[in-house]
Amino acid sequence: MPRDLLEDLGLKRDPRFVEVATDTPAGVREIGGRRVIVSENPASGRAIGAVTLDDAAALERETVGAVESFKLWREVPAPERGQVVRAIGEEFRRFKEPLGELVSLEMGKIRAEGLGEVQETVDIADFAVGLSRQLPGQVFPSERRGHRLMEQWLPLGPVGVITAFNFPNAVWGWNAMLAAVCGDSVVWKPSLLTPLISLATHRIAERVAEAMGHKGIFRLVIGTDDEVGERLISDRRYPLISATGSCRMGQRVGQVVAGRLGRSLLELGGNNAVIVHADADLNLAVPSIVFGSVGTAGQRCTTTRRLIAHESVVDGLVDRLVAAYGQVLNRIGDPLKEGTLVGPLIDDRAVKAFDRAVRTAREQGGKVLIGGGVMGDRGGHFVQPTIVRVPANNRLDIASEETFAPILYVFACKSIDEAISLQNSVDQGLSSAIFTESIRVSERFLSPSGSGSDCGIANVNAGTSGAEIGGAFGGEKDTGGGRESGSDSWKAYMRRQTCTVNFAGRFELAQGIRFE
Ligand code: NAD
Repeated sequence: MPRDLLEDLGLKRDPRFVEVATDTPAGVREIGGRRVIVSENPASGRAIGAVTLDDAAALERETVGAVESFKLWREVPAPERGQVVRAIGEEFRRFKEPLGELVSLEMGKIRAEGLGEVQETVDIADFAVGLSRQLPGQVFPSERRGHRLMEQWLPLGPVGVITAFNFPNAVWGWNAMLAAVCGDSVVWKPSLLTPLISLATHRIAERVAEAMGHKGIFRLVIGTDDEVGERLISDRRYPLISATGSCRMGQRVGQVVAGRLGRSLLELGGNNAVIVHADADLNLAVPSIVFGSVGTAGQRCTTTRRLIAHESVVDGLVDRLVAAYGQVLNRIGDPLKEGTLVGPLIDDRAVKAFDRAVRTAREQGGKVLIGGGVMGDRGGHFVQPTIVRVPANNRLDIASEETFAPILYVFACKSIDEAISLQNSVDQGLSSAIFTESIRVSERFLSPSGSGSDCGIANVNAGTSGAEIGGAFGGEKDTGGGRESGSDSWKAYMRRQTCTVNFAGRFELAQGIRFE
């Protein structure tokens, strides 16, 4: 550890923080009479620290508090709410280094990506500040004389935000910064795999909001899925649950929230493909595919998991990828060390899932071209980035699943139609990309009829991962259909009201109905 990040971020002074011996096993434990979650450094397998777990009573307290804070916060004019978000964004800028490094330490992504993640929170804060002076409604022509027909957008209520381990700071930022300018309070239930970065993130936002006289808009509940998660999603006081994570989790959250007729915003798993057409510029495609498939050790929702290349280029492309992976294999290690390109997987369960997937791929006829191994000698949870060539009939069932690890399955195809059909053949629909120099082929991929990519994100000559915050982010099918971040995603955090104002001074019904 280059410096004492926990000290720099004030975590050691937080009453919820618990110091533990580095050989304490990760997970939920009873320490000194407190139920805590012990967090480990995935690069070493050693404990970093622990955080006191919240129980059902704590969730209830925070929910009651969030309802009260919401009532006060919604009265604050949106541009003034924007000033609070602006100050929060400034504070994240100030703490970008230690926070980004803590993301690397606790989650395992390399330092540049850890800092990049905090930058996303800064960027979305900037975006939200601008939005705080818009949140526009529309005015429509009324069919009745002397009437105005319009819609306005109103604060929604406390928003429950559930986040995945792999973006422990930015996904909260995407939700919380928008929700805050929209006039909502936020109760955050983060992943139990990243409690320290969640606590550090929360402390910054809450400290700034409190100093500006708005205590309690941002709340944090760190608890188990059974005791806290399930209660949060069932609670009618949350009109919106925004949940990021696996498709399995989303199916459960979606059903429970729909059962109470609440709203859910689901950002779930992906199984993203890059199509490389016969005329592609491979100098563009190769680095995009390598970054997309090995970046964050394959633990991005937008990770490139499948490569679908035209049969005329597939062999040459694979040779170049294998050569590039050969270099990457020498740069696996401590994510905080300069020069490291690939850090560890998050935990031992993820390593086992990787190992299982590689074995299954082999059993199903796939050929491992490079990688495939678990690096068990290192202490942490390291695996080798892996390329698997699927059999000539393009059948490999395991490639239809999202294994949250750096495995790239390579398919060969004969035509753009076959490539698009293969790409769309999986259950998830998050991100997709094509490399081509042909406008016909790229327009086929982006076809306005919808017959091209079926994903929420479709890129041309840019890879599947590394989205900017300006556009809406999310995917279709089992990815859940939600949209977060830019564009008009803010609408999810507000309620729409259609208003008719009669200034004619006489009674008149629509559709010419007479009632006299
Ligand atoms: P996960 O589904 O195991 O957990 C995600 C979150 O859901 C955690 O906070 C977890 O505690 C919570 N959760 C699980 N069951 C719950 C329940 N019954 N009630 C309430 N909360 C519950 O996912 P993970 O392993 O942390 O993250 C990896 C997954 O997230 C991958 O599938 C990845 O693709 C996906 N992801 C998607 C996006 C996106 O924007 N589409 C972004 C990041 C990650």
